[in-house]
Amino acid sequence: MSRKRIGEGEEAVRAELERFRQAVELTRQELIGVSEKADQLVVGRELFEVHLLLVQDPALIASVERMIEEQRVNAEFAVGSVLRDAVSRFESIADPYLRERSADVRDVGRRIVEKLLGTERQALDREAGPFVLIAGDLDPSDTAGLTRDIVLGFATEKGGATSHTAILARSLGIPAVVGLTGLTDDVNPRDTVIIDGIHGKVVVRPDEGELLFYRELKRKFDSIEESLCSLAGEPAVTSDGHEIELAANIEFSQEADHVRQYGGKGVGLFRTEFLRLLSPSADEESQYSAYVHVLEVLRPDPVIIRTFDLGGDKFFPDSGISEANPFLGWRSVRVCLDRPEMLRSQLRAILRASTHGNARVMFPMITDLEQVLRLREILDSVRAGLDDEGVPVAGDIPFGIMIETPAAAISIDLLVEHVDFVSIGTNDLTQYTLAVDRGSKLVAKLFDPFHPAVLRQIRDVVRVVHEAGKWVGVCGELAGNPLAVPILLGLGVDELSVATMLIPEVKRMIRVISMSDARMVAEKALRLPSGAEIRHLVHSSVAGRYPQILLEEEETE
Ligand code: PEP
Ligand code: MG
Repeated sequence: MSRKRIGEGEEAVRAELERFRQAVELTRQELIGVSEKADQLVVGRELFEVHLLLVQDPALIASVERMIEEQRVNAEFAVGSVLRDAVSRFESIADPYLRERSADVRDVGRRIVEKLLGTERQALDREAGPFVLIAGDLDPSDTAGLTRDIVLGFATEKGGATSHTAILARSLGIPAVVGLTGLTDDVNPRDTVIIDGIHGKVVVRPDEGELLFYRELKRKFDSIEESLCSLAGEPAVTSDGHEIELAANIEFSQEADHVRQYGGKGVGLFRTEFLRLLSPSADEESQYSAYVHVLEVLRPDPVIIRTFDLGGDKFFPDSGISEANPFLGWRSVRVCLDRPEMLRSQLRAILRASTHGNARVMFPMITDLEQVLRLREILDSVRAGLDDEGVPVAGDIPFGIMIETPAAAISIDLLVEHVDFVSIGTNDLTQYTLAVDRGSKLVAKLFDPFHPAVLRQIRDVVRVVHEAGKWVGVCGELAGNPLAVPILLGLGVDELSVATMLIPEVKRMIRVISMSDARMVAEKALRLPSGAEIRHLVHSSVAGRYPQILLEEEETE
């Protein structure tokens, strides 16, 4: 956006500020419209609520206004420059989920600039469909406008598996593959293209054999999807009658609205840091409303609210520090214990919200008993403060910790008597056990939560926690992998908490196996020397009982 100097005098600045505010207001109204349209989707609405938050973000607005006032530049230039900075901040974040939020910031910036310039974007030619869409990049708002009858599938060069474009595609039920570099050079208009969203592949100009193979794969996939949908109302119970708690992992409060529809009971992990990452100034009141919403929607089912897991690979805007090994650095409860005021205000919000449902509080990245004792003390003193103020708080709020470091897993016997429950975070437990950075592509092949060293720790944690008469869940991504379900059940975990969309696949696995088979599989698995052999064992033990197609894993390069 080219830089222009606005005219002299206060009046010129006022006029430019007014032009900017009008563009923001028009964008806000447009986003409300898109958000209502996206309401049919599972996650569409909250995505546009994220966009709405961004367009109204006081810090972003203030930065643009300051630039117009101080540098006397046109609004288009100021918006472009402020949002470019915001985009590059997001792009430098190691965490892929947050990095991909840069697309949302770009999308909002584009809309405001369009309003300022009075230009409109070329819309998709809906008359030309149905077709397969191949693009360099797709904004989430472009994606929300797609429907299955017009777009059979799409593939893009940019984006990752956790980008909102990919999340929306999943909600819309449109097969999609993202992140294929060089794709647009390979494909010509009117080429036949197969989008294989199961394996993350695109086949351009397929031969007869490939066409036959994919027609059959699609037929099977459609019939399985249909049968899974009917499971939502069924209990998560094994074929020999053991009920398993099956809960959802959520990042935004509105996601809670869809948990029951997908057949889940409660939330096993609310990643609350997203509240703060989206709005660094998220105060006690805004957190309180988010927690109340989730608790009320899901009541009486339990909701495990995890305190901020900031730092490490997740952006911590005011940390002002850079570390050589952020995963081993100032992260999670370490940050919270060093910034007790931030933690205290989060705990106040959680405790105040607790009267609206069945709240549990959980602390991440524990490594030693000292932390657990200090966290208990802080929680007790926050409660005492609220009591003094006469603010009602639920009587019993279970206190839990995440087991996601080998330190916590190995010394679980020292920790367990001081907590009410534990939940195993296999993402970090795998990263720290195998010394594999979970965000690095170079070592992605070594990141294996089925590794015997990880499974043995899960086995030992479950045993010790149960001996102490307490409850243990698993909330890392491993819990959402159908192949891991027989092992985790066989090891005796009480709860699996998985991404909402994965609930039906996991429930189906729970319902086809018996607890006695699961125990046998787990016992055999724990004697095998590698993750690959363990997966193979589960594969063959459920063959014929569980759809093969859902057990296939994306190929890594
Ligand atoms: C985990 O580490 O397994 C976990 C559930 O937490 P997060 O993925 O948010 O680090
Ligand atoms: Mg973790």
